[in-house]
Amino acid sequence: MPMHQKKLIKNHFVLGFIPFGGNFNEFMVPFVSEIKKFEKGKIMTVQEQDAWIIAGLVLVTADLPQGNDMAGVLRYNANKGCRTCTTKKELLSTYNQDSVTILRYHHITDEEISKISQESVSSKRGQLCTEYGLRSLPSILDKLKCERHLQTPQDIYHATAGKIGRLLKLTCELFSQEGEDDFVKIWKNFEIPKKWSRLLNSISHYNSFMMIDVARISLVLKAIISCWVQVAKTMKAVFNKEFTLDSYEELQLYLKEEFLILPKVFASFVNLQNIHINMHILMHAKTFGTLVNSQVGIKEMVHRIFKGMIPKTNCKTIDLDLLKCYNTLFAIRNLADGGIDPRLNRSCTGFTSSNFDQLFSNWYVTEDKYLIEEQIQMMT
Ligand SMILES: [Zn+2]
Repeated sequence: MPMHQKKLIKNHFVLGFIPFGGNFNEFMVPFVSEIKKFEKGKIMTVQEQDAWIIAGLVLVTADLPQGNDMAGVLRYNANKGCRTCTTKKELLSTYNQDSVTILRYHHITDEEISKISQESVSSKRGQLCTEYGLRSLPSILDKLKCERHLQTPQDIYHATAGKIGRLLKLTCELFSQEGEDDFVKIWKNFEIPKKWSRLLNSISHYNSFMMIDVARISLVLKAIISCWVQVAKTMKAVFNKEFTLDSYEELQLYLKEEFLILPKVFASFVNLQNIHINMHILMHAKTFGTLVNSQVGIKEMVHRIFKGMIPKTNCKTIDLDLLKCYNTLFAIRNLADGGIDPRLNRSCTGFTSSNFDQLFSNWYVTEDKYLIEEQIQMMT
């Protein structure tokens, strides 16, 4: 599917919601059993023709901790808490050129899981889990044909947001009171597109700051500016929509430089999982073509839309209420796209007028370059 189609909400289908505190494995049982049937292939009638359909799990995207759960790896505060490699916690900031020997491999993890499950003494089982950095109960997704370490990549959307959030906090903490007041003033008057929700004051949330010596300011500033420059360069590279062999190399270079500079300037980046994953990002980019292909940004927006529906339900029959909202949303979208309501037998012009078109094409805060280009072409 082309990129501009991929980011449209109508091409994302929600299969279910697990309420907070719900059991993921339990919830996934029907889904997993159906996908298992599809893995073997199934004859289905598509547009009145029999077709042989084969389907499987391609990609698991999740936040950092939840992604580890789904790959069957311990959380990132464990001794070996990276779901892509077996680097120890205290070495996360060491740049290891020889990543081949430290990576996790599906077949090796399989062996380790079977050793853990064969151990009957629970304390020994715990020791094995710590040694391998694996959970005692493997993920339900293991039942499917899926390479758990390659197909559960680190999400670039969360990683970038987390990294920039931390860097912004650290930078703000270095401001003097006067500088901070000025910053807040500029921040408040900062012009943002109308469609964006109001930006939060980045400083008021961090009440601790410290004064720095005037003499040290220039040095410190230089280091901080280098950090921001590096982060900006990396961010541009990771969100690239297409890659060539050269730009993969460039991506790796930026990731490495960022990996080295951030912990050097700010101690709180030392051994941080979010920075450590810079070592694996190139691999994920090559596996899925680009990093945008496996990022969760759009799913997060879909999640947000559904979250926004909850307060409007009666909070008792949530599934029915969500289904009603979802159906209505799809019906409106279908009409806006020029779809036909069978009862009327003609397209609903009210929905396809320019105002509605504008409203529905801009649901997601990204400049819709392709759509605009198409519109321009159609007009000329
Ligand atoms: Zn790792």
